[in-house]
Amino acid sequence: MIKRILSIHAHPDDAEILAGGTLALLAHAGQKITIVTMTPGDCGSAELAPGEISAVRRKEAEHAAAAIGAEYLCAEFRDLGIYTDDNARRRVTEILRKTRPDLILTSSPVDYMIDHETTSSLVRDACFGAPVRNYLTGDLNPATPLDAIPHLYFMDPIGGVDRDGRPIQPDFIVNVEPAFEEKKIMLSRHRSQREWLLKHHGIDDYLDTMERWTRECGRRAGLEFGEGFRLYKGHPYPQSPLLEELLGENLVKRPPAQPTG
Ligand SMILES: [Zn+2]
Repeated sequence: MIKRILSIHAHPDDAEILAGGTLALLAHAGQKITIVTMTPGDCGSAELAPGEISAVRRKEAEHAAAAIGAEYLCAEFRDLGIYTDDNARRRVTEILRKTRPDLILTSSPVDYMIDHETTSSLVRDACFGAPVRNYLTGDLNPATPLDAIPHLYFMDPIGGVDRDGRPIQPDFIVNVEPAFEEKKIMLSRHRSQREWLLKHHGIDDYLDTMERWTRECGRRAGLEFGEGFRLYKGHPYPQSPLLEELLGENLVKRPPAQPTG
């Protein structure tokens, strides 16, 4: 069962941190993968101007995607400039029509910063609009509408927690232990970011932080390394467990319910 998978997150490196292992596992299974970032990461440098760092990061993102044989595209929004407005929704819809995914992995609706949250909202709405024939994108060379709404899954938020630091409960956790080395290779190809994160966030060791979060996610399901996902439950989005089927039940674990309140 060969499907087209679209990973669409805000910035170069988000998908590698939150879903790199899962994307590598899907690539092993022969799925066709496109990784889209909404922005080229134009604010991700303390030294280079926006145009310069964007050029560096588009190349890094392309190189990271190539590690698993995936294609890379940038939607050319700008950091802190992603709004859920009419033009943005039509632009994201056109990306869906051009890449024609059966399944989409996108950012969490609640996350630590606004670009992640608006990306989630735009992708959810573009999934709805992509099959609607009368919804015109304004593209000069528009692709035909999709046949159906794609399966939509949310990645975990960064660090696996909401804005108050409470854990977000995924529907299931993918055992990414067999692909963890590839996940590290993908993230390590975003070389410019280790330096930037050290300066701006005070986080040294980019790869170690990713490893800690991936271990913590896995621990919730008794795994060494894990990545969590939630299927969007809104009507009329598809509800069959397509991602779980593509990965195979051996790689999918359901975490015990977290206490609430
Ligand atoms: Zn990000």
